[in-house]
Amino acid sequence: MTTTATSETPMVFADRVSKSFGSNEVLKGISLTVPRGEVMCLVGPSGSGKSTFLRCINHLERVDAGRLSVDGVLVGYEERGDKLYELKPREAARQRRDIGMVFQRFNLFSHMTALENIIEAPMRVNKLTKDDAVARGRELLARVGLDEKEDAYPAHLSGGQQQRVAIARALAMEPKLMLFDEPTSALDPELVGEVLDVMKGLAKSGMTMIVVTHEMGFAREVADQLVFMDGGVVVEAGNPDEVLGNPQHQRTKAFLSKVL
Ligand code: ADP
Ligand code: MG
Repeated sequence: MTTTATSETPMVFADRVSKSFGSNEVLKGISLTVPRGEVMCLVGPSGSGKSTFLRCINHLERVDAGRLSVDGVLVGYEERGDKLYELKPREAARQRRDIGMVFQRFNLFSHMTALENIIEAPMRVNKLTKDDAVARGRELLARVGLDEKEDAYPAHLSGGQQQRVAIARALAMEPKLMLFDEPTSALDPELVGEVLDVMKGLAKSGMTMIVVTHEMGFAREVADQLVFMDGGVVVEAGNPDEVLGNPQHQRTKAFLSKVL
């Protein structure tokens, strides 16, 4: 698997990406570009295909048609000359290691402490020594404001703290792209801010991010692009102030009137 990515290569490039489950066409030709270092917020009603799109980027679903690349490498396929070959599982796994994903539910290992959750993959997958993994894990816990909690088990952490550990755990693999799928939707309202603050810091540090969220304040402040999806298509995309302030499509207006 070779890549000719340069600083000009978008981190994510989707060109007419389609995906069906049986007869249900969930993605109907999604085209979008996320340049490296930028943040895209993806919004839209439930069932519009947002999670499926993230899952395609992360090799959790297979694209049926169209092209999808991460950092210049086709996802699901490999190009040799003018032919496309399906990626082997090992190549797909290799690509996935560069992508961090944070879900609505925290998905921490309940039998491991915060620090153990963070060092597990770097030790097992990246073969870091325990000392190195722990040193890095502590730095990451400090970065998400949880340096006091390294020995705490998930059950003893609030939802917001668990989600911050989940972000630190994803960062421990040094991803070049972070995907967030409604990371604050399951949180009590008073815990949302602390998670969004960590995400804002990450965006400021230059991380490339795609964030599915209904937090429009966050989108307005952090996103370079806001994409509104409905029914498996991109209805509208652009600068968040423009899309939020002056939506062009009736469907966007109707959706925004419910979440703003
Ligand atoms: P969103 O994240 O925007 O709410 P999803 O991507 O989760 O939307 O779902 C879009 C559509 O795809 C829904 O109709 C959902 O039922 C369907 N879907 C998602 N995953 C699967 C699956 N694994 N098998 C069958 N249908 C699925
Ligand atoms: Mg979803």
